[in-house]
Amino acid sequence: MGNNMTIKVAINGYGTIGKRVADAVDAQTDMEIVGVTKTRPAFGCDLAVRKNFPIYCTYDDAGKIAAFAEAGYDCHGGLSDLLAVADIVVDCSPGKVGAANKEKYEAAGVKWIFQGGEKHAMTGNSYTSSANHFENLNCNGTRVVSCNTTGLSRTLVPLYSHCGQLKVECTMIRRAADPGDSNKGPINAIKPVLHVPSHHGPDVMTVKPEIEINSMAVAVPTTLMHCHSIVATLPEGHGLTTESVIEMWRESPRVIVMNGAQTGISTTAEVMEFARDIGRKWGDLHEIFVWEDGVKLDGNTLYYFQAIHQESDVIPENVDAIRALMGTESDWKTSVAKTDAAISLYNNL
Ligand code: NAD
Repeated sequence: MGNNMTIKVAINGYGTIGKRVADAVDAQTDMEIVGVTKTRPAFGCDLAVRKNFPIYCTYDDAGKIAAFAEAGYDCHGGLSDLLAVADIVVDCSPGKVGAANKEKYEAAGVKWIFQGGEKHAMTGNSYTSSANHFENLNCNGTRVVSCNTTGLSRTLVPLYSHCGQLKVECTMIRRAADPGDSNKGPINAIKPVLHVPSHHGPDVMTVKPEIEINSMAVAVPTTLMHCHSIVATLPEGHGLTTESVIEMWRESPRVIVMNGAQTGISTTAEVMEFARDIGRKWGDLHEIFVWEDGVKLDGNTLYYFQAIHQESDVIPENVDAIRALMGTESDWKTSVAKTDAAISLYNNL
């Protein structure tokens, strides 16, 4: 590990997720950004310059590296040069390019974290803060699961911890594209995932195998958030009420519970407006948003809705995953508190 026990973090792929992870890492006192990569000298480089993050080229190709200087950017070298000065790399490249990158990380002897666009089979290990931080301690690499799976884990893991058994059916109503994407759809259709179950439910079982869960998914023409419609079957003698489930989530890290009727926050548009109103950077909401008046426990069946800000809920999880792999914090709640306190310094008006 680096000097003064500061974890040296590289970001490979400075896009939607990469730029956010970089800022969240930069806010922590026990880690620092040693560089971020761009494939070419595009507009994202200006953000890295403003943040004082050293820019590296995604490739080791001399011509591609030289193109940065020609465009007026100070490029410190290729990916190999960046890996040489890092303890750990957070791979935020587009999904499915991970396998090729993993070989490079292993050859360079750095730890690695992939994102949810990669398959569990490729990484052999997955992560969410509440489900399996401890199991990831000192591992060589892991995968922070997708935004949807992270969202499911946030509310289902505390429920499972209380009940000791949980069976879940859920429908993911997914945003079609991120706000910055101009090449994805649908723009006037509802597109079901014609593969049942969708990957989201089974993906939860990569971090918490004890939860029995199936999911279906549809993409809808919105860019703001995902919405989950969840039905969970609790075991006999669960001892919970609608109110106590709500209270459990209020006390769970990174979950916000609000009453839609009372606050007027009754759609994902208003949830995002709320995030902007409280001054969150990029208008992000790291927390999972649960509508209090959408929760109902009827006998052993629990119904609820939750909204997921797809571009940001996985960001603090990446910070916790760094501590898990580096073995610097074994208790997930301590890591979560540390991560969120540091991030809150740049959040909230
Ligand atoms: P993005 O397209 O916004 O950013 C990817 C960045 O990686 C771009 O800057 C791109 O130029 C760069 N890149 C391209 N090829 C590369 C390579 N071979 N090596 C390194 N970098 C390369 O994508 P994103 O939305 O930030 O997604 C990144 C990962 O995070 C994916 O696995 C995705 O599934 C996952 N994820 C995305 C979201 C989301 O809503 N955007 C949420 C959770 C997880």
